Amino acid sequence: MTPMRVLSVASEIFPIIKTGGLADVAGALPLALKAKGIEICSLIPGYPEVLRVLERAEEQPGPVSLFGGDARLLRGRCGEHELFVLDAPHFFARGGNPYLSAEGVDWPDNGKRFAALARMAADIGFGAVPSFLPDIVHAHDWQAALTPAYLNYGHRPRPRTVITVHNLAFQGKFRRSLLEEIGLPLESFTVDGVEYYGDIGFLKAGLRFADMITTVSPTYAVEIQSDEGGMGLGGLLRSRSSDLRGILNGIDAAVWDPATDAHIQCRFDASTLERRAVNKAALQKQFGLKQNPDALLLGVISRLSDQKGLDLLLDCIPTIQMEGIQVVLLGAGDVELEHRFRAAADTHPETIGVVIGFDEILAHHIQAGADALVVPSRFEPCGLTQLCALRYGAVPIVSRVGGLEDTVADLSDDKQGVTGFKFGPVTMQNLAAALCSANAAYRDRRGWREMQLNGMATDVSWDSRASQYSDLYREVLGLPA
Ligand code: ADP
Repeated sequence: MTPMRVLSVASEIFPIIKTGGLADVAGALPLALKAKGIEICSLIPGYPEVLRVLERAEEQPGPVSLFGGDARLLRGRCGEHELFVLDAPHFFARGGNPYLSAEGVDWPDNGKRFAALARMAADIGFGAVPSFLPDIVHAHDWQAALTPAYLNYGHRPRPRTVITVHNLAFQGKFRRSLLEEIGLPLESFTVDGVEYYGDIGFLKAGLRFADMITTVSPTYAVEIQSDEGGMGLGGLLRSRSSDLRGILNGIDAAVWDPATDAHIQCRFDASTLERRAVNKAALQKQFGLKQNPDALLLGVISRLSDQKGLDLLLDCIPTIQMEGIQVVLLGAGDVELEHRFRAAADTHPETIGVVIGFDEILAHHIQAGADALVVPSRFEPCGLTQLCALRYGAVPIVSRVGGLEDTVADLSDDKQGVTGFKFGPVTMQNLAAALCSANAAYRDRRGWREMQLNGMATDVSWDSRASQYSDLYREVLGLPA
């Protein structure tokens, strides 16, 4: 039996370039699928960070001209990752954040840049690389979402398509005049095509034309079919309900393993949980907090954006102070939130520590040393930090939305073993109440330890999740289960 052949298309991939969970998934899922016998290669843009690490690069025949510049398709690898790289210097020879300039604004040509990525993906789908003709093209998020549209308007035999929505808030909406520049036919600019409230909607197009749609948790799959959660796409998603699945994300169990983690001060596992105390003390020291082993130490690792609800945590500071709780936060994003967190740390240096920035290693320190991880998101497609937290014995305190609802078990869940705290609706009062409950529970060290152990025993690996994707691919191809 020949293996299924899949082209995964994404604008970021861990460990090469990452702004958030999308990169984690685009990095880990192909490896997990490869382990299941699927032949899979990822197409990513040729940012400098990518070209620098690409090994055994081979230029594919046929130089291409892409929307105003010369481009080449390279095939190579990085570690275990099999890669196609779109080397289009006019679009991707810019280091740093893949979407933003140094001033933090969207590159003005983002529409063309990611249309180029999708155009290349569709060309591979049509056979541009004879030795890799995919059965399935799997596009991730708006940056890859025009792929099914290009394949549709090619009007010739094409591979089947899957699109995964990692966050419906990012939709890729661009002016109508781009249509000709990115080679979409005039006929495509209709409500049944790529048109989206008078503009071109990249994600909309992907949701319209992909054979199957997935998102990253069962609860989010339901939420995005509502008018509010659908963010303008609820109607379209409702109309495609029978082709929409929620499959939870996993985490890379090799990268996030407290027993082997080279980044942390003191490694531990379920049988040596008491060693976490060393990491907690190191974390308090690193953030300049008071060395207090008995204070409940909350960790936050997050983009700072309205979605993440961290303004509510700021509003809870009086409660946090009153309860004797400590907080360490690693995050970056919204300038006002950055400023408010810095100010909070200045005011309460013994109990609140803040690092503004993106720091993969510090994220490991926090997971290994914090007693609890707080994720008070207003919406959360899946969320990865709470999965890492479960594995590291940091008890998640989360809002009852999206993937947070699906991956953390509290007293109200009819599941075996409580793993954390959930609150909802997402208000400051409810978050404060959850923090107080957690602080009270922390006083019962045996009960707390049981929660930690339940979390550490939860399966958060990609293995079982990858099976669900592999089953889905078989379904899309009409193969027996
Ligand atoms: P989102 O994709 O919405 O940002 P997720 O929870 O799905 O949120 O994924 C976030 C990923 O990015 C996690 O792997 C998390 O550890 C990481 N992360 C977020 N902010 C930072 C930061 N400031 N420094 C290091 N890692 C971060």
